[in-house]
Amino acid sequence: CKMGTVDKQEALVVTTYGRRVDVRLQSGERVAARIKGRKLKPVCGDRVTAQPIAGEPDWLITDILPRSNALTRPDARGRTEVLAANLTLVVVVAADPPTPDWFVVDRYLSAAELMGVKAAVLFNKIDRLTDARVEPPALAEFEKVGYPVLRCSAATGQSMADLQRLIAGETTILVGQSGVGKSSLINRLTDNPALRIGAVSAKSGEGRHTTVNSALLELPSGGAVIDSPGVRDFAPAVESAQRVVAGFPEIEEAGRACRYANCRHLKEPGCAVKAALDEGAISSRRYESYKRLKRLTEKLNA
Ligand code: GDP
Ligand code: ZN
Repeated sequence: CKMGTVDKQEALVVTTYGRRVDVRLQSGERVAARIKGRKLKPVCGDRVTAQPIAGEPDWLITDILPRSNALTRPDARGRTEVLAANLTLVVVVAADPPTPDWFVVDRYLSAAELMGVKAAVLFNKIDRLTDARVEPPALAEFEKVGYPVLRCSAATGQSMADLQRLIAGETTILVGQSGVGKSSLINRLTDNPALRIGAVSAKSGEGRHTTVNSALLELPSGGAVIDSPGVRDFAPAVESAQRVVAGFPEIEEAGRACRYANCRHLKEPGCAVKAALDEGAISSRRYESYKRLKRLTEKLNA
């Protein structure tokens, strides 16, 4: 006769639906799990301690193992909400349609920088580009900063091999506005329909038995991809306005030459960031993003 705790094991959180989650056990089996206590909030990518519940198919999550990082955003009440954990790569997806909001793309990129995780931009739906509908100039700006920029079509499969190469062996989260094609891209990444996941919905109870908040797909090539609900707006939770600059590598880099070490790159004399802006070495849109995120962080932390 085994004691209940004997079967305790480490598991990976692969789907979250509100307070319910699915985990993958060491055996590879996926099981539904309940969460012990209100304070515990496991997210996709979390490694947790799980144990079977006697006489029930569900498992119980008792602990979340220490996270190497977490993608967070402030919730409606200004508290930090965790979207996913233990990532190695953030891929920010944009497309047209929906009309891209490049400030949101900048904020996701800054979140990756602040977490110390690699980031890339993926422009999807390139099958819609024509001689008259050329790619947005923002893409070249991201490349200039140093981010890999992929141009793909989940619809035709074009350049999907580039995405496969980029994410091999990584724990990737695909983020971006709703409708850019995150679910379509993830479904393209696997040929096994059984592994496919449905579109992640930001709303609840819309014609689905259970609404998936977030799902992790383990890739045949190694690594995993996490889908997340599309949000209209996103801002990283940053602990102070001074830290915002760490989210913008080209501004941080140029800022090393400012006259004052504590230069905020706003109106200070001898500001090297302003000089780089005037020369066109830094994009004015990216600089505007920096200022906006700084103001927002001041407001949220006030
Ligand atoms: P998500 O909300 O980011 O997960 O986006 P979906 O994957 O649900 O896609 C939103 C819509 O865009 C759907 O109607 C898709 O069929 C369409 N779509 C996705 N990828 C492409 C693409 O590469 N080209 C075109 N033309 N449409 C696409
Ligand atoms: Zn400066």
